[in-house]
Amino acid sequence: MSQQGYVATPPYSQPQSGIGLSPPHYGHYGDPSHTASPTGMIKPAGPLGATATGAILPPGPPPPGPHQFGQNGAHAAGHPPQRFSGPPPVNNVASSYAPYQPSAQSSYPNSMSTSSVTQMGSQLSAMQINSYGNSSGMAPPSQGPPGPLSATSFQTPPQPPQPSILQPGSQVLPPPPTTLNGPGASPLPPPMYRPDGLTGPPPSNAQYQSPPLPGQTLGAGYPPQQANSGPQMAGTQLSYPGGFPGGPAQMAGPPQPQKKLDPDSIPSPIQVIENDRASRGGQVYATNTRGQIPPLVTTDCIIQDQGNASPRFIRCTTYCFPCTSDMAKQAQIPLAAVIKPFATIPSNETPLYLVNHGESGPVRCNRCKAYMCPFMQFIEGGRRYQCGFCNCVNDVPPFYFQHLDHVGRRLDHYEKPELSLGSYEYVATLDYCRKNKPPNPPAFIFMIDVSYSNIKNGLVKLICEELKTVLEKLPKEEQEETSAIRVGFITYNKVLHFFNVKSNLAQPQMMVVTDVGEVFVPLLDGFLVNYQESQSVIHNLLDQIPDMFADSNENETVFAPVIQAGMEALKAADCPGKLFIFHSSLPTAEAPGKLKNRDDKKLVNTDKEKILFQPQTNVYDSLAKDCVAHGCSVTLFLFPSQYVDVASLGLVPQLTGGTLYKYSNFQMHLDSQQFLNDLRNDIEKKIGFDAIMRVRTSTGFRATDFFGGILMNNTTDVEMAAIDCDKAVTVEFKHDDKLSEDSGALIQCAVLYTTISGQRRLRIHNLGLNCSSQLADLYKSCETDALMNFFAKSAFKAILHQPLKVIREILVNQTAHMLACYRKNCASPSAASQLILPDSMKVLPVYMNCLLKNCVLLSRPEISTDERAFQRQLVMTMGVADSQLFFYPQLLPIHTLDVKSTTLPAAVRCSESRLSEGGIFLLVNGLHMFLWLGVSSPPELIQGIFNVPSFAHINTDMVSIFFIAFMLTIVKQREQPEMVFRQFLVEDKGLYGGSSYVDFLCCVHKEICQLLN
Ligand SMILES: [Zn+2]
Repeated sequence: MSQQGYVATPPYSQPQSGIGLSPPHYGHYGDPSHTASPTGMIKPAGPLGATATGAILPPGPPPPGPHQFGQNGAHAAGHPPQRFSGPPPVNNVASSYAPYQPSAQSSYPNSMSTSSVTQMGSQLSAMQINSYGNSSGMAPPSQGPPGPLSATSFQTPPQPPQPSILQPGSQVLPPPPTTLNGPGASPLPPPMYRPDGLTGPPPSNAQYQSPPLPGQTLGAGYPPQQANSGPQMAGTQLSYPGGFPGGPAQMAGPPQPQKKLDPDSIPSPIQVIENDRASRGGQVYATNTRGQIPPLVTTDCIIQDQGNASPRFIRCTTYCFPCTSDMAKQAQIPLAAVIKPFATIPSNETPLYLVNHGESGPVRCNRCKAYMCPFMQFIEGGRRYQCGFCNCVNDVPPFYFQHLDHVGRRLDHYEKPELSLGSYEYVATLDYCRKNKPPNPPAFIFMIDVSYSNIKNGLVKLICEELKTVLEKLPKEEQEETSAIRVGFITYNKVLHFFNVKSNLAQPQMMVVTDVGEVFVPLLDGFLVNYQESQSVIHNLLDQIPDMFADSNENETVFAPVIQAGMEALKAADCPGKLFIFHSSLPTAEAPGKLKNRDDKKLVNTDKEKILFQPQTNVYDSLAKDCVAHGCSVTLFLFPSQYVDVASLGLVPQLTGGTLYKYSNFQMHLDSQQFLNDLRNDIEKKIGFDAIMRVRTSTGFRATDFFGGILMNNTTDVEMAAIDCDKAVTVEFKHDDKLSEDSGALIQCAVLYTTISGQRRLRIHNLGLNCSSQLADLYKSCETDALMNFFAKSAFKAILHQPLKVIREILVNQTAHMLACYRKNCASPSAASQLILPDSMKVLPVYMNCLLKNCVLLSRPEISTDERAFQRQLVMTMGVADSQLFFYPQLLPIHTLDVKSTTLPAAVRCSESRLSEGGIFLLVNGLHMFLWLGVSSPPELIQGIFNVPSFAHINTDMVSIFFIAFMLTIVKQREQPEMVFRQFLVEDKGLYGGSSYVDFLCCVHKEICQLLN
């Protein structure tokens, strides 16, 4: 795997003192010498074709495509977080523009009827909630003092669209508070908005002239800026009349500025999300224009493929690349795409079409091997075509010839998905198969740790019981009756037990392999079987396993030999597949991959901290390579009660495209439901096996670095033992040469893979971006959510090699640099005390601060090393929606839920100031879920949710009747576990350090000022 990005650039190896920075040193752009291959070189011929080989594939009917990855059930597959869908888009601005009103009467009646409560229950249970794993381990509750009844809650009003977004020349003033009972909450004045009057028609809400904000602490207030004359871009301006008190901020626990900014006056993520929902939600987004900016990932809309890949598949940090590398270096904006090739497509959108050219196979450019796509230009009456990527002129194969119409377009343009769509699939020929023969259908192998503690606590029994049900739901092609996936079973402690579950056996047979040093597979026939055929033997086995090991006192386990055994079994069966390993302890038994407890908190916050994130032996690295080479993906369910070295155990799952689930201090009554949900989703999830991805680009730039659950043996081929609908690969691009505004920057991502039924296919995604020589165009086209995905992954990759302090400094510096460059080159001239943010990056500072405060980057001994390694791994495969939610959780005022409506209340900002004693808030980040109860929460709601009469009756060990399926942590205001919850209020100062949003913004502004001077 290439090790660029943070790792290799000279500035990164020289920790800069403080936060000061010198522009030439920036980020990934400082030194072209670390790029993977020489500039200007022609990309080597196809990754996917070169080694590939043949398949006898049934020439299926072309469109409509197989609904291979096509559905979006109520439980979108897999762990990545399901966001609570937001309020409906507000399309009619005028009518929705009611001033704030206390909503006690309407949205939350004091006496909630039973039916209302029930209805709320069904709303809540209908929500899509999911989580990665576990956050248990909270201290037992202690009774907190009852507090006074708080102020009435206010229903969040629909937000007016903010004209500042993407409108030149406007300004954003402090966004209206979306809160309920913020500081000095009482009935709030209407949202402030002040048009600049320079560009565009005055908005309908112009009557709201900025009244002073309640609770504003700056004496001078925020006089609206009359700026932006001329061609400058829109930006958010904030003035700092008091200058910048407080010293050079250190990211962990900075000195508090004397004068504080009012949180309501600085850009709000909630406001940005709501504005985008209001303007673009519920609409059809057609991908017919190169370089167009999609709706935010938090906005629901219907996507129509008209020649570019859906943003569900590819999102970019910017949709307009700078023409030259000099410009790119000047702006320091990473140029990257976050590609989720198997993203789930909702049922109201068209699934991918399948193209089948029979034995001829896909049409590809002779030189760069790009696949036929809308970027190919047909010429000479249709006899030849010019490749949009390398400009090579190719002959059209005779079978593919078609005449052109009067505008030079093929007559069959709209009949062929590969000519008119951004995404489609090809049936691959035998040339694309291993050993030139069609692949066998994949297999799933279930591997259960049956050591003493797992038997004792009932985990083995739980797993065995559950498998009997979930095996009924193995993934299958839509048109098939049963799944083609075969299954096998292994149990282990310090030895391995293989089971023969052949359908003609009366009883399963066990074969023990004690030589864990060199694992071999003791049986071939009868190990991997069709579930339907062997159902009774399998059930018999699953019934017996818990008893079989009931008397075992074996506490030691092996781990690497378990993976080895699974991989060897797949290899012997000549098929790709997935191992499901259920494991609990540090593998200390004498065997390859044996681990010792090396959790050394003294390393935290030293230059050696990176060691904690590296595997302690290279056994797992070479095992991962073997697994990928044989299409063996590993998914690991961990149930640790103490340190198990996640950094080592998680390496194979990470590099093989598997998933790591962690349930710390697993408690049967609290956590089993979450585990079972995760297991079900993981088994049913849409997935492709034995995959190779290649990202091609048009001339002038190329992919230089890749982040994800991937393995790379060269600089271009991204290998994945499996890739499922939740996994994304983030790809960074760099310039080779100049890009032209006319031809733009084109990207083609091709994934060669094996389907669940054993068909070899190619999935192609194409995306065209604009190019510009104006920095303003670049800034206008940025997507902060994608930028954050990139920054998180590149920083989390870099921590393996760099001191964390350096990485944190780089993140701060780069943020300041990007914003300073905008200020200098794109914004209107204004006083130095003005902080001006580009509209597209308004929330970059708050999100960046969230990343800096994440436990992975926060060097604090209080945080478990395993938890940090776990979260690091989780983020590495996230798509943009997942990373957005993970770093900026959703905080929902459940008590304002309108029982008559089908939608949820709008989220509020993640800050303690948004909580209220009379409120109940749900916080979700995709990994954790908390239900926070104010001391005066309404008894009716408490009754409805917990079936107990009052706050005092709630035991935080309780399982809510509404959230039974989810790992929900119940937090009562003023009780000890609230401390854990507060870490997720990411706009506030962190419990273990980490600035508040306000402080961070001041710090970034200071940096910008220094850069500008
Ligand atoms: Zn080409």
